Amino acid sequence: MLKPLQEWICDCCGKIIPHADAGYVIWRHDADQRDFDFKIIHKFVCEPPNYPSSTPLTEFLGTKGSTYLLSFISLGKIKARGRYRNYCHVLDFDEFVDFYRRVQIPYYEEARTKFNNPVLLAEMEDASELHPYQEDVLKQIIERF
Ligand SMILES: [Zn+2]
Repeated sequence: MLKPLQEWICDCCGKIIPHADAGYVIWRHDADQRDFDFKIIHKFVCEPPNYPSSTPLTEFLGTKGSTYLLSFISLGKIKARGRYRNYCHVLDFDEFVDFYRRVQIPYYEEARTKFNNPVLLAEMEDASELHPYQEDVLKQIIERF
């Protein structure tokens, strides 16, 4: 079992990143500078070419990380004015929120490896949009599937 918010699964090699300092986050931009393809990887060891942006994984953790993550979605009350109102440079919200949960929600990283389980998907069919991603539910998913 992964230690929540201390260990991650590398998106390049599939092996465990044993602590936040060993991790990096990389992503790409489209022609309109919208960000996509966020990956958590081993620092130095697994860095693929053609990813123009990279930031230490530690920058995305805790309250500081939450603040950073939100800056991708909104410029906020101070900067979101005029043509920058509702300016967002995330290309794919589902992908970005998956990344957000990986670095902010305990047990999400391990539970998401089970998200294609057909029994789990059937059980969650009538669940609310919030239910599957709550910490206690994620922990149950890890234990049961
Ligand atoms: Zn790796």
